[in-house]
Amino acid sequence: MKTLLPTSTAGSLPKPSWLAEPETLWSPWKLDDQELADGKRDALRVSLQEQHLAGIDIVSDGEQTRQHFVTTFIEHLNGVDFENRQTVRIRDRYDASVPTVTGPVSRSKPVFVQDAKFLRQQTDKPIKWALPGPMTMIDTLYDDHYKSREKLAWEFASILNQEAKELEAAGVDIIQFDEPAFNVFFEDVNNWGIATLERAIEGLKCETVVHICYGYGIKANTDWKKTLGSEWRQYEEVFPKLQKSNIDMISLECHNSRVPIELLELIRGKKVLVGAIDVATNAIEKPEEVANTLREALKYVDADKLYPCTNCGMAPLSREIARGKLHALSAGAEIVRKELGGNM
Ligand SMILES: [Zn+2]
Repeated sequence: MKTLLPTSTAGSLPKPSWLAEPETLWSPWKLDDQELADGKRDALRVSLQEQHLAGIDIVSDGEQTRQHFVTTFIEHLNGVDFENRQTVRIRDRYDASVPTVTGPVSRSKPVFVQDAKFLRQQTDKPIKWALPGPMTMIDTLYDDHYKSREKLAWEFASILNQEAKELEAAGVDIIQFDEPAFNVFFEDVNNWGIATLERAIEGLKCETVVHICYGYGIKANTDWKKTLGSEWRQYEEVFPKLQKSNIDMISLECHNSRVPIELLELIRGKKVLVGAIDVATNAIEKPEEVANTLREALKYVDADKLYPCTNCGMAPLSREIARGKLHALSAGAEIVRKELGGNM
């Protein structure tokens, strides 16, 4: 990539109100059948256009075709019964009714590959596609078959690898794995979480990202953040091993968070998607605020490895606010780009 400080988003963008209830996370679809299929593609076009107009360098589908960043993928797999639900504690934080793993899990057909091909046709810019990571997937299910978190994670890793290889063949430049669970289960992350992620990216030639955040700006997450004290050092637990892993890029929450920015030193050498936009507030960042976060990160990340990004997805925000934040991200990156002397 030639542009210095290429911008992107961590994931979801708001959906149009004719497709799903606005400002609602995991909102049900408003359309059915063919209308829904067409509606999702139209929404993808709109979301892409918003990113183009805001000057975002690495674009995505804005996750317009999925309801939930984990379950939509799982819905397409065999071995999971969505009628048979159990209540489990998600990321040690909140209870949710989740589907049950009742048999061997497998993928009989691609999940997002047609959508990725469609996105590829709409833009010449590099595209990034998000998939759930193995550890976050198992944390969103009740397992009545493998009865081992690790075993199920390895199964999902091999399924994700099949999907990732087909996304790469469809023209995706960067594949991202969302692993908010990496911020919670440190021992498992170090024992097998990172290893299963490496299994998921095995044989890929495109770039790979792991996104580790403190979650959407929903109440369960903001309440949890209040319990974390004045310094959030969760990243410190997993960074040393991630630094040695085969993952190319790491996507992090930085702006307005209590993550000590010097922790970035622990992943020196990796490309870093620095969260310079807070997704848990309706206040639109000033370009100068974005620039400040990037300048801080530049003390620990080499300029050619810094990718300005959002802290997490923006699905729960209004379209107007999300649009404002996209523009702020671009403008803030541009300020720092100029300071660094333009393009490389
Ligand atoms: Zn996130």
